[in-house]
Amino acid sequence: MAILLIADVHANYTALEAVLDSAGSVDAVWCLGDTVGYGPQPNECVATVRERAEIVLVGNHDLGCLGTISLIQFNREARIANEWNGQQLDDEHRTFLLDLEPMVRVSDAVTLAHGSPRDPVWEYVLDAEIAQRVFEHFDTQLCFVGHTHQPAIYQLKGQRCARIVPSDGLVLELDPDVRYVINPGGVGQPRDGDARAAWALYDPAAATVTFRRTAYNIRRTQSLMIDAGLPELLAARLSFGL
Ligand code: ZN
Repeated sequence: MAILLIADVHANYTALEAVLDSAGSVDAVWCLGDTVGYGPQPNECVATVRERAEIVLVGNHDLGCLGTISLIQFNREARIANEWNGQQLDDEHRTFLLDLEPMVRVSDAVTLAHGSPRDPVWEYVLDAEIAQRVFEHFDTQLCFVGHTHQPAIYQLKGQRCARIVPSDGLVLELDPDVRYVINPGGVGQPRDGDARAAWALYDPAAATVTFRRTAYNIRRTQSLMIDAGLPELLAARLSFGL
């Protein structure tokens, strides 16, 4: 069984398509939020995620685009992009996003949260110190998160939390005695210095998580952003994965 984990698509449809192509046939898709915001194709991304994903979370940028949370909490470029994304969204996609939760307990084994199980909308799990404190806020072995746009594995064994930065192709074999917070990285705006879209495959039967990167046509996304009048800085950063 293969479950495709995607996060932070951010209206980058070219990246999303490349990831879905590269993942091929999967049994399910779980989307960890921030499907819109930043990028040039919010409707295409929501339509595809609605069609393909069994579970979709809402993230802080989705909520910003919907007007549910104030745009004051975003930096200038993000604010402009969120406003633009919000104006583009079709009513049915808006209604779909408005209905979503930022955290879902999928089973006795797995929780999903956009930011973290402690603060599903806003908290960035960026290091082992932060990760250590979020384990008490969920009761499953695994929690998959997004939001930082950086692939990461946090593993808690006893009282000790360690961080592993997964490289492309890494297969993590889940240890039943260890609890994990795992971020597959960002599809539409990676921020770990690697411009390729990041994603992961979770196989519950084999107890593995495989981390993957996929190159996509960044120039296409950038030219759509410039044509739409989105901030140049947001287009430029895609080339660097920052
Ligand atoms: Zn995001």
